[in-house]
Amino acid sequence: MNNQTQNRPQHIVIMGAGLVGSMHAIFLARRGYRVSVYEQLPDIRKESISAGRSINLALANRGIDALNRLGLMDEVKPLLIPMQGRMLHDEDGELKLQSYGQKPEEVIYSVSRAGLVSLLRDTAEVTGQVEFFFKHECLAIDLDQNTCEVHNKPNDQKITIEYDYLIGADGGGSQVRESMKALNETEFSAELLDHSYKELNIPAGPNGEFQMDKEALHIWPRGDYMMIGLPNPDASFTLTLFMPNEGPISFASITDVETLHSIFDQYFADAKGLIPDLEHDYFNNPTGYLGTIRCHDWQYKNAVLTGDAAHAIVPFHGQGMNAGFEDCVAMEKALDTFDDNWELAIPLFVESRMANSNAIADMALENYIEMRSTVNDPKFHLKKAIAFQLEQRLPEYFIPRYSMVMFHLIPYADAFARGKIQYKILNELTDDVDDIENVDFIRAERLVKQKLPRL
Ligand SMILES: Cc1cc2nc3c(=O)[nH]c(=O)nc-3n(C[C@H](O)[C@H](O)[C@H](O)COP(=O)(O)OP(=O)(O)OC[C@H]3O[C@@H](n4cnc5c(N)ncnc54)[C@H](O)[C@@H]3O)c2cc1C
Repeated sequence: MNNQTQNRPQHIVIMGAGLVGSMHAIFLARRGYRVSVYEQLPDIRKESISAGRSINLALANRGIDALNRLGLMDEVKPLLIPMQGRMLHDEDGELKLQSYGQKPEEVIYSVSRAGLVSLLRDTAEVTGQVEFFFKHECLAIDLDQNTCEVHNKPNDQKITIEYDYLIGADGGGSQVRESMKALNETEFSAELLDHSYKELNIPAGPNGEFQMDKEALHIWPRGDYMMIGLPNPDASFTLTLFMPNEGPISFASITDVETLHSIFDQYFADAKGLIPDLEHDYFNNPTGYLGTIRCHDWQYKNAVLTGDAAHAIVPFHGQGMNAGFEDCVAMEKALDTFDDNWELAIPLFVESRMANSNAIADMALENYIEMRSTVNDPKFHLKKAIAFQLEQRLPEYFIPRYSMVMFHLIPYADAFARGKIQYKILNELTDDVDDIENVDFIRAERLVKQKLPRL
């Protein structure tokens, strides 16, 4: 390869046509690159297949920023259902809404995975620069020769494809990452969570209506385990049951219909009556594993990782896709900075994302404890109320961590670092106080200004 091609590759191959690969294809096509995207699965626009890991997802500010940059938000809006907060369901079916933010625009959105990925693929194709190859599975990559061995499933043929640059957007089980690892070029760690998940469904009511408040993310927090529910445009809810793999209430312990019913009668009684296919779904839907992938480097020669391939995280902050979309923007910015010189731009891209990816991975793990357990603690609600007050009083210093992650574009690493300081301040302020009326806000403001740098 001559120098010019090395610096500004002509032909980009993207492995994986998921949310992140499809979005990269659009950004790159708009910069004038010829892009080929290989995807092992059939095209969800043409064949009805399972959407994959989750039927719907929470879209927040970072993802919206990327979609806005592509001018796609008008087309995405019809796919969205705003969720203003968490609707907590206790064991007696009592409901409590806990707002995510305190400004009208501080909501997150439920979006269908299949709907969003289809829109991204359509948009990529319209550029005329992108070709998708579905049912093509990458089997191996020669990262020194810039070639991939791909199985064309319909023809049952192995083909070799060449690339000038390879983007590994092939998800948590990435073959591109495996190939880097095989050369000892990147160390990576995969921490499997000892909890897994299973999807269930609440269909629309008899008149096509939502059977629970549609503008909320529903949570049944039960300490060691929990269930959540996100609304769909067809008035159904997708429920996700998160439980330990082993233990008294776990995927290992619920193996027969009687136990399933008794657990749901006891802990999810208000939801149970709304899940007509509980038995069928529980025993037939797959149990999905959850884990965190961290890589020490994302690049080897002319190949780079992105999205879940580089940084799969647990889903408890609703940020995996959002972080992947932010990767797409970061690559775009790096290419802008170096005028499409990839030799310089890709290291900048990787550097700009690494610490941030580790930070959101940690915050996502922490959020599981918050969602399944801490939300039941009255002190948690007090701290949240104080945090909102402090944000109103000192918006240039204090933004609740959840809001920094979901409603701002503050780098994850900064949100994580500021969040630790804020956590200590809130602990200090609530040490001997149970009511917001008794919080000393003069002291609170002093602490905030002493301990937090201006935003
Ligand atoms: C239960 C659950 C809930 C979630 N909820 C949220 C949420 O609310 N908000 C949020 O932001 N994120 C959420 N996420 C995370 C989100 O799903 C991922 O971060 C996102 O899908 C990552 O996109 P990706 O394109 O990097 O990877 P993927 O979506 O995994 O796409 C990778 C693609 O590569 C293909 N591929 C893999 N191997 C090969 C191969 N060898 N050859 C060819 N193709 C291949 C796959 O078929 C796939 O289509 C959730 C995840 C889970 C599991």
